[in-house]
Amino acid sequence: MSFKDLQLNKPLRRAVAEAGYDNPTLVQEKAIPAILDKKDVVVSAQTGTGKTAAFALPILQLLFDQQDAPKRGKKIKALIVSPTRELAVQIAKNFETYSTYTNLRTTVVFGGTSVEPQKDILKKGVDILIATPGRLLDLHKQTALHLDQVEVLVLDEADLMLDMGFIDDVRKIERLCPTEKQTLLFSATIPHKVEDLAKTILNNPERILV
Ligand code: AMP
Repeated sequence: MSFKDLQLNKPLRRAVAEAGYDNPTLVQEKAIPAILDKKDVVVSAQTGTGKTAAFALPILQLLFDQQDAPKRGKKIKALIVSPTRELAVQIAKNFETYSTYTNLRTTVVFGGTSVEPQKDILKKGVDILIATPGRLLDLHKQTALHLDQVEVLVLDEADLMLDMGFIDDVRKIERLCPTEKQTLLFSATIPHKVEDLAKTILNNPERILV
């Protein structure tokens, strides 16, 4: 199977080709069509399987397709919640690479560093935000960002996020987003607490196991 078979558009195919990707990985083959179909998904995949591109590419495509729509504004359309700064930065790098030939704007926010530069970037408007839970809620409280236009919410490394005690934050973040949205949950393992979270916040998800 090729990225073209997965119906990925040319700007994205060009970027992945330049990144040296010849063909999609298994998790990409399974997840990309479901996400492009606007389904909620629960994906069980380890780091190293290509899972970041499995959500980043279809999200970019969905947002790219509406780039010229009149409602395009300054508000966040896709929100990726990640448990650690390192993972968040890695995800943001991937988005930057894949979005080279689009006009979509990505930014990353995390704790342990001053909020002002992050606020300044948010003020200019971003389409895709990658964030750690605490800093995200902090910036929201300061009205430095708005989540009422979020169309796609990704919870990455959900098992780790819950192990780190972020369950209340994650639920709060989910409630700040519109009820009508697409939610993607990625996790290396699916223990009971991740399953419980999936059951309460996802809508008839497709389950993908790699
Ligand atoms: P991840 O599982 O998202 O951490 O990705 C693991 C590594 O695989 C990263 O370095 C990606 O750049 C790379 N990668 C992702 N998709 C592909 C692909 N289709 N072909 C080759 N490398 C890939």
